[in-house]
Amino acid sequence: MEKLTIRDVKLDGKRCLMRVDFNVPLDKQTNEVTDDNRIRGAIPTIQYALDHGAKVILMSHLGRPKGERKPEFSLKPVADRLAELLGQEVFFVNNLIGEDVTQAVNGLQNGQVLLLENTRFEKGEKKNDPELSKQLAELGDVHVNDAFGTAHRAHASNVGVADYLVSVSGFLLEKEIEFLGNVVENPEKPYVAILGGAKVSDKIGVIENLITKADKLIIGGAMMFTFWKAKGYETGNSLVEEDKVDLAKELMERAEKHGVELILPVDALVAEKMEKGVQTKTVSAQEGVPEGMMGLDIGEASIKLFKDALKDAKTVIWNGPMGVFEIEDFAKGTESIAKTLSEMKDAKTVIGGGDSAAAIAKFGLKDKVTHVSTGGGASLEMLEGKELPGVSSLADKKKRQVVVAGNWKMNKTPSESMVFARTLLNHITPKTDQVEIVVCPTYVALSDVQNVLCGTTIEVGAQNMYPKVNGAFTGEISPTMLNDLKVKYAIIGHSERRAIFNESNELINQKVRFSLEHQLIPIFCLGEVLEERESGKTFEVLEKQLKEGLKDIGPDEMKKTIVAYEPVWAIGTGKVATNQQAQEAIHFIREELSKMYDPSVANEVRILYGGSIKPENFTGILAQKDIDGGLVGGASLKESFVELVEIAQQMTK
Ligand code: ADP
Ligand code: MG
Repeated sequence: MEKLTIRDVKLDGKRCLMRVDFNVPLDKQTNEVTDDNRIRGAIPTIQYALDHGAKVILMSHLGRPKGERKPEFSLKPVADRLAELLGQEVFFVNNLIGEDVTQAVNGLQNGQVLLLENTRFEKGEKKNDPELSKQLAELGDVHVNDAFGTAHRAHASNVGVADYLVSVSGFLLEKEIEFLGNVVENPEKPYVAILGGAKVSDKIGVIENLITKADKLIIGGAMMFTFWKAKGYETGNSLVEEDKVDLAKELMERAEKHGVELILPVDALVAEKMEKGVQTKTVSAQEGVPEGMMGLDIGEASIKLFKDALKDAKTVIWNGPMGVFEIEDFAKGTESIAKTLSEMKDAKTVIGGGDSAAAIAKFGLKDKVTHVSTGGGASLEMLEGKELPGVSSLADKKKRQVVVAGNWKMNKTPSESMVFARTLLNHITPKTDQVEIVVCPTYVALSDVQNVLCGTTIEVGAQNMYPKVNGAFTGEISPTMLNDLKVKYAIIGHSERRAIFNESNELINQKVRFSLEHQLIPIFCLGEVLEERESGKTFEVLEKQLKEGLKDIGPDEMKKTIVAYEPVWAIGTGKVATNQQAQEAIHFIREELSKMYDPSVANEVRILYGGSIKPENFTGILAQKDIDGGLVGGASLKESFVELVEIAQQMTK
């Protein structure tokens, strides 16, 4: 789960639309915030955005206003508290969308903060309404999601908005993904899972997921008694889920089959009532819970057994208290396990679940474990191995090296080209291994530009070439001539060559083959025209261009080839392709390559997008899964090219 974070996007001067979790308790009389932990938790991400020159627009829900405006759920008191904590003014509008919101956003200066009204005052929020999502997206240049507590819900402000705006994680969400996702799913072994809490039924999904991954599974809490019952032990009045006894048996069998050691408590602390100060006693499993009594904590022998089981663990996940920790008399089991975890310095110790988090906080050990999840429901779903909507909607980290290629077309004289190449060299900070930077001047400027850029990390490409070494081909340039200039790339089959110069798929195929034979990396272009798109032939056209244009190109050659998709209909027509349309077409191209070669080849090929790329839209384009960069026209002729390179560099650092 490699996702982009707030560190991967440009923030300077940008409107940063941030979904946070300000769902805090308010005093019923005074409306003041009674517990500001969640507000404090959001500050590192907010502060980071401010420090990087963003205009921060915050969104959150609070309570359950059920799609209606209810003053007792207003976020105004939160704005006041946040202002105190940040030490700066926090603007507030009592709407989520609308004219006043747009005005407030437009009035923001870099480094200023605006909090919008409760997202759940809008009915569309919980319905993940596309119209609301779109309106929200219009308020920002980038969406930052830092609300883990709602990540298991697809709502407009956290998930829907990501259909229209690049969504990246804030620091809180990033940490949750790292620990509840990556660490728990790919743990360093030995891996021990401790499960407790009230009900087996709440935790079936978690047990089922962990049973295939953990080396040991420790069971405590009330649910131990359903397991005791399954083993034939007496359980008295303990909280037993009769209808889950068979499931408990099955889980024990399944654990054995997977070679997972399932460890049950060997004793329990019992009492007649769940009350402070009642008389308690410890019983062994064999003795069982006496009639009229209930088990409320694990016993001393179990604590010792669990501690031993944890001894050499490298990863521990804990969900669900061992007993009724809220009452001191029954807190010892939970506290001992918390303490044991806090002393395990060589292990990653991760705690999920609302009550478990409350328990570890109560014992003052919150900072002594690796990670305490802040989400209740969300952390359980994550432990069930599910991909949460609020995580899936975040943009992925780039898997392949990104290419930013400038096609200068028939622009700039040789001397202008040389001057511009110098400008680029002075302004681009080379970070070679991340972004491949290519400029393609006219033939007559190639030599001069190459003189400036040779040996630097900015590579030079030609805009075309002819598939012969030499001979009677008036007006053409051969690959060997380009080789002599140490040119590395050649754009082949650009839409203008196809349309104005009538280049056929056959000729383009010869050019691709010839450039590969002469160590030139082809940037093979394809794309459909307006008529083809409107008559629903897009995929058909792309398939034909791919099959014919790449005929007889071997898999190793294909891996070297760069593909560039251009929606020809969106060039100079005033029509724009959405990021989704670009992704859809490029995804199709990758699927086709998968069929023509195999997925491992298709996964390596870089596929660029070309169609009015500008700094304003490049982040959104590059955030698409299958898009590995841009073939840039107009914006490559100006300093905006530097900005494009920077956007790509930041996203791939
Ligand atoms: P989490 O929120 O961490 O996922 P749960 O909600 O599953 O945890 O369970 C927490 C609750 O389980 C606590 O309120 C605790 O009092 C209760 N509990 C733990 N052990 C017992 C027990 N033996 N009998 C009754 N309730 C128990
Ligand atoms: Mg709970």
